[in-house]
Amino acid sequence: MCDISDLSTIPHTKWNVDILLIQADGTHPNLALLKIARHHWNLGDTLTLQRGMKAPTKSYDVVYISCIFTHNREEALNLAKQFPEVHVGGCGIDLTTNLPDEIEHLMPYYDLYPDCNFSLGYTSRGCPRNCEFCIVPEKEGKVRPVADIYEFWDHRHRHIVLMDNNLLALPDHFKKIVSQIKENNLSVDFNQALDIRLLTEENAKLLRSIRVKPSLRFSWDNIKDEDEVVEGVRTLKSAGINRSQFFVLSGFNSTFEDDLYRLNKLRVWKQIPYLMRFETVYNKYPYILLAMWANQPHIFYKMTFEEFVHHRNYVIWGKKFTCTQ
Ligand code: SF4
Repeated sequence: MCDISDLSTIPHTKWNVDILLIQADGTHPNLALLKIARHHWNLGDTLTLQRGMKAPTKSYDVVYISCIFTHNREEALNLAKQFPEVHVGGCGIDLTTNLPDEIEHLMPYYDLYPDCNFSLGYTSRGCPRNCEFCIVPEKEGKVRPVADIYEFWDHRHRHIVLMDNNLLALPDHFKKIVSQIKENNLSVDFNQALDIRLLTEENAKLLRSIRVKPSLRFSWDNIKDEDEVVEGVRTLKSAGINRSQFFVLSGFNSTFEDDLYRLNKLRVWKQIPYLMRFETVYNKYPYILLAMWANQPHIFYKMTFEEFVHHRNYVIWGKKFTCTQ
């Protein structure tokens, strides 16, 4: 019989249990599995990690599956059916289930991923904004501090990856986290990007004072935010931060021309774009070309999109492309 539960109920009554943790998708080490692994490691259980959704060749007492992409949901649930005791979760499965509190705040068990040389975690959850395309407001609710770096920083690591979704929405907490990073001489990746509309001169100077790797990341999702993005880039430059990466959402409530406009502005400001194609346009021809141009800095800075299209003899909308920007 197959007993499928979510990740909000983590069992434990048996002794020396054989545990299989399946990371269904995603390339980063999976934070939920790292914390579940710590729980079972503390209990003396045997841990095995599997990446991808092949069926395991041996049997396990308890199996956990974490799936982060909704397009993998069916496959993950089908895989789950073959185990007698299995817990399935992740934002690809549902948005409402969280780890129990006593596991959520455990130190991740980084040895689960022998190649992992950084620490990762959240110091805050939630976001005060409500962007239509984003699952964070529904999944995490109001923005609030939940931890500091000491909850998940392993002292063997010199780099931390922060998964916070809108750290600048909590200015005092942001200052505290930056000071912890500085005190310990760590480098940091603000992995989910910072909100440039909330950037102040003071926090730009704080960002300048720490080592950010690979680079600062922001988003410019809506053409209507142009004034705030211009102001943010100016503030960054006054603080000595000349180049950052900007995620540019395309194909969601925007026209192709809007998307190209934002990319061209970033080119003028000498920032690095990363075009994110919304699922409705992901496989559409002009958007693929736009990403081929925008997401390769050596091409993006060498030529305009119009030159790129002409250079490669591409045709858009059935005719030769004309750049109107
Ligand atoms: S600001 Fe970012 S995290 Fe917040 S709702 Fe918009 S996209 Fe999501």
